[in-house]
Amino acid sequence: MGNKPSLMLQDEEIKQISDETGFSSSQIEKLYSRFAHLDRSNCSSLSKEDLMSIPELVINPLCDRLIQMFFSECDQGDERINFRQFIRVLAAFRASKTNNSFINNSNQNDNTNMIRTRPKGHDNLKIKLLFVFKIYDADNDGRISFGDLRSILKMMVGNYIEDVRLDKIAIRAFVEVDQDNDGFIEFSEFCKIFAGKDLHDKLSVKFF
Ligand code: CA
Repeated sequence: MGNKPSLMLQDEEIKQISDETGFSSSQIEKLYSRFAHLDRSNCSSLSKEDLMSIPELVINPLCDRLIQMFFSECDQGDERINFRQFIRVLAAFRASKTNNSFINNSNQNDNTNMIRTRPKGHDNLKIKLLFVFKIYDADNDGRISFGDLRSILKMMVGNYIEDVRLDKIAIRAFVEVDQDNDGFIEFSEFCKIFAGKDLHDKLSVKFF
């Protein structure tokens, strides 16, 4: 403690990360400094417990799912994430250019490549939608089942809404989004419903 360097990234690496995530160099430096402070065991990686010390994350009702998202790019069984994995998720969490908030991201299928390219405009929104889609897709099979949707809604509302009422809300939402009525919400269906809505502010997580 107390002797952590404020920045250990080389210029070259900062440039690569900036190209990959769209963050400016000063944002990357700030995030690196934050990462270093979270890294209590000083091994250049974060555990789930380290992430749990981020207040903005812990107060989020979807905290558990969000933390799982940080590990979604890791090999199975990995219990720590490095800075590149950390910042890639934050890039998908990021809101607009005018504030310093985030929205989120990522996985091991084809969509991963999209996340690794610089998010801009429309693409940026798509990355956010994909990230949110993955949060809902609890069993990570590439589509949202009714059970996935209901469990996320339950996390969001806690015990404020009775289960019977929550079921009704979940059914109504599911039927609206599952346009081909096959019992699953695919990413294309998810985009159709949410792309037109103002996700930028709603899906942002303030981080620094
Ligand atoms: Ca469907």
